[in-house]
Amino acid sequence: MTQPIAESHWFRNPTTAQNITQKIREIATKLEQVKICHVCGTHEWTITHFGLRSLLPSNIEVIAGPGCPVCIVPAAEIDEAIQLAIEGKVITCFGDILRVPGSTSSLMETKASGADVRIVYAVSDAIEMAKKEPTKEFIFSAVGFETTAPITALEALGDLPKNFSFLVSHRLIPPAMELLLGIEGLQIDGFIAPGHVSTIIGLKPYELFTKIYRMPTVVAGFEPNDVLMAIYMILRQHSVSDAQLENEYIRVVKPEGNKKAREVIQRAFTITAGNWRGIGRLDNSALQLKDKLAQYDARKKYSLKLVQCQDIHTGCQCHQVIIGKINPSQCGLFLKACTPARPVGACMVSSEGTCRVWAKNVS
Ligand code: SF4
Repeated sequence: MTQPIAESHWFRNPTTAQNITQKIREIATKLEQVKICHVCGTHEWTITHFGLRSLLPSNIEVIAGPGCPVCIVPAAEIDEAIQLAIEGKVITCFGDILRVPGSTSSLMETKASGADVRIVYAVSDAIEMAKKEPTKEFIFSAVGFETTAPITALEALGDLPKNFSFLVSHRLIPPAMELLLGIEGLQIDGFIAPGHVSTIIGLKPYELFTKIYRMPTVVAGFEPNDVLMAIYMILRQHSVSDAQLENEYIRVVKPEGNKKAREVIQRAFTITAGNWRGIGRLDNSALQLKDKLAQYDARKKYSLKLVQCQDIHTGCQCHQVIIGKINPSQCGLFLKACTPARPVGACMVSSEGTCRVWAKNVS
């Protein structure tokens, strides 16, 4: 990307959008069907909100993979938080996890029954509450991908009060991307990699997709033109039968990522296998606090026993939406029994969930 284009804020320029779309259309005439997958709730919002799919030729498809960190928290881990709340502990969490269904209930319903469940805007708010109320036990539900894990790590390594601990549900994106490549019938031809996760992990973790799977992979930002450009870059690779790792989001993402953030993650967490709602267990896809921080790990502190349970409720197709096999409108409950006001599945809860994005933006 040249400097003059960056200076003109090309990524917010409607004329640029027309130019990129024209280039996509031209190059698409030389290609067969191409299916591009992104793994980011914000990318899905940009694509859906700005109607980018409607600009693409019929042989170019963009699907949404598991990009919502709230949607993929398994019901069993919601149940753990509910159990702690029922036992009288204070559960603190971000607002979007509140309505995510556990096996039989949600934190919202548990709160309505009288449990002490509090929404916070930052983990530091939860820590301050714990300091001010030392006779109560506080737990923070730590959810998110590589983007939010450094904050949890930093706080866990800091000076925490004894009555505070984390219920960690952090997950890592590259293992989920690799899983998608093995799903029968999905047949992905290119990845748009998430810009914000990439600011932390850099480019290296995506190298296996090009080197082993020969999968064009482009890290992209979140403006409409960023996404259009990433699509064009993938198609350009296909047009010459190439598979490269490219960075469209150079104004933010450095090839090496954020070394300090990665260091702090490594000091606080061990990488382990983790369950993903609708997907199952993935090796090397979850973060667990290291033994030296066991006193701040709610699972160890309160001897929680993870009880596996059904993740998906009857009729809900979240397991298919999360892996991009269907789009939300192909679920029979979409905008009927399942709405943003009364979500049935996790994908309708968070603003990053594909079903909620579609419900808010597709008429
Ligand atoms: Fe599940 Fe609702 Fe999405 Fe259907 S529309 S897949 S029920 S979240």
